Amino acid sequence: MIFEHLDRYGHEQIVFCHNKDAGLKAIIAIHNTVLGPALGGTRMWPYKSEQDALNDVLRLSRGMTYKNAVAGLNIGGGKAVIIGDPASDKSEALFRAFGQFVESLGGRYITAEDVGIDVNDMEFVYRETEYVTGVHQVHGGSGDPSPFTAYGTMQGLLAALNKKFGNEEVGNYRYAVQGLGHVGIEFVKLLKERGAKIFVTDINKDRVDRAVSEFGAEAVGLDEIYDVDADVYSPCALGGTVNEDTLPRLKARIICGAANNQLATNEVGDEVEKRGILYAPDYAVNAGGVMNVSLEIDGYNRERAMRMMRTIYHNLTRIFEIAERDGIPTYKAADRLAEERIEVIGKLKLPLGRAQPRFQGRVRGH
Ligand code: NAD
Repeated sequence: MIFEHLDRYGHEQIVFCHNKDAGLKAIIAIHNTVLGPALGGTRMWPYKSEQDALNDVLRLSRGMTYKNAVAGLNIGGGKAVIIGDPASDKSEALFRAFGQFVESLGGRYITAEDVGIDVNDMEFVYRETEYVTGVHQVHGGSGDPSPFTAYGTMQGLLAALNKKFGNEEVGNYRYAVQGLGHVGIEFVKLLKERGAKIFVTDINKDRVDRAVSEFGAEAVGLDEIYDVDADVYSPCALGGTVNEDTLPRLKARIICGAANNQLATNEVGDEVEKRGILYAPDYAVNAGGVMNVSLEIDGYNRERAMRMMRTIYHNLTRIFEIAERDGIPTYKAADRLAEERIEVIGKLKLPLGRAQPRFQGRVRGH
């Protein structure tokens, strides 16, 4: 059953990690290391069953292969899940035991933060292994990736505006931004700097108030965000918000935001295309976070990070070209770009591409 799945989706390796004393039950999935070591975050979640945890890590690790490949990184795809409640099951021993498993893979898998994990947890992992990204700035790490993700989202937006309207003047258009968390509020700031008209919503009233008072945004209701007269719908909260119910309501001509898994289903993605809405594929647009942490591998530097974010513009342009070339929706074109890159670059057998991670400029210990 498991090997059948691995066969179908092409995973290379699954590691079941168990340490009774530390209460650790985790799964590391390495999907593909053709381009380089597998990089992807660790999620901590109270999964209802072990099967749910396995399904999640297999799906997420495969997603990382595509994301890292489209981002142009010399990095493959992997992910880890720890089965447990982040509110009650965290301990030093748990994360150090997990770190030892990461270490045992000798750099084939490099971890980072994901849902349920914060930078303090990663400090414990880091005590046991070098193969961690997103470590604190005091250790030479890259810190919070959100402003980079927002900047990368802006690059994706520019490419989409150019494609759809032949014009990259952000201030000429109206935006509906859903979610004003770490990324959303930074994105609103960037829109405001470019003179845009912005509608915003969030379940957190303080965040809405800030967007209104600081960035002159217009607040709308949680459900109203789908009906506003905007040119661009920018999901920056949850996944699945482009669905059968919301799509017919959208007036936007472009969907471009930072949220993961924006399309509820592939069928919805096809329908987006039929309606003439340009979808900027989420994992290509929001790659700023992974680009940022990936730079820790050979020495983090903010300037390099900003430069790298700007490549998102070109990645999106390439995706739009492939969509046109092959007559397919953009969400499929993104997958195709990833597959083509893995195929072609994989054949080059670049020693540099598969070099052992070096993690220059970082300091371990307290
Ligand atoms: P966050 O938790 O800081 O912010 C999410 C915001 O969405 C919160 O303010 C929350 O109140 C709001 N929200 C939740 N449900 C909502 C709803 N139904 N309607 C309106 N608002 C709602 O998260 P973040 O780090 O800003 O990430 C936002 C999205 O971008 C997520 O989907 C995340 O997976 C994705 N992403 C983030 C990064 C990053 O660097 N932080 C990188 C890649 C992808």
